[in-house]
Amino acid sequence: MSKKEVMKAVADEVKACRKCKLGETRTNAVPGEGSLDATILLIGEAPGYWEDVKGRPFVGAAGKLLDTLLSETNLSRSTVYITNVVKCRPPKNRAPSPIEVETCTPYLKRQIKTVQPEIIVTLGRHATSYVFSKSGIKEAAGITKLRGKIYSVKLFGLPVSVLPTFHPAAVLHNAKYKDPLKHDFQLLKTLVAKSQQGH
Ligand code: SF4
Repeated sequence: MSKKEVMKAVADEVKACRKCKLGETRTNAVPGEGSLDATILLIGEAPGYWEDVKGRPFVGAAGKLLDTLLSETNLSRSTVYITNVVKCRPPKNRAPSPIEVETCTPYLKRQIKTVQPEIIVTLGRHATSYVFSKSGIKEAAGITKLRGKIYSVKLFGLPVSVLPTFHPAAVLHNAKYKDPLKHDFQLLKTLVAKSQQGH
């Protein structure tokens, strides 16, 4: 199967999925979107209110901030792939439970293996925990300590640079996260430039 066929199959399964409780309360599942040949894959936590309404990732206020950060990094949605750890909105935007993460992440695994990104940006605690756990990294600290550094790992057999940072939604709740988030996207810019030089 081509990349396009695999990703369509994943998206179709996600849209029909009722494997966990989040499938009972969602309006629309949100599989993810972007370039299937992206060098950079961004992983958020879960759809929020507007993502649930529209069926697309990062379309609310946090999405606008993400668009700004991407454009300041000379990137755009069409050149990256964006998805979430869980594909359906948890009620009242609560954090997804461990069982919901476990049930849903086989979809994310297939997406990562299909896109084969060189760089993964984990937006927030949940995405970072998932990628670290699958890369054999012991997570010895919270996102505040882990963020802003590049971790060279093997994820599902792929060599990947992982850059953990805050979830853009965190900045909407607390402005003190804005500068660190901007800093980390500038680090991403450097990482992308290095990756392009290597090609
Ligand atoms: S969150 Fe994931 S596992 Fe749960 S119903 Fe939605 S797509 Fe299925």
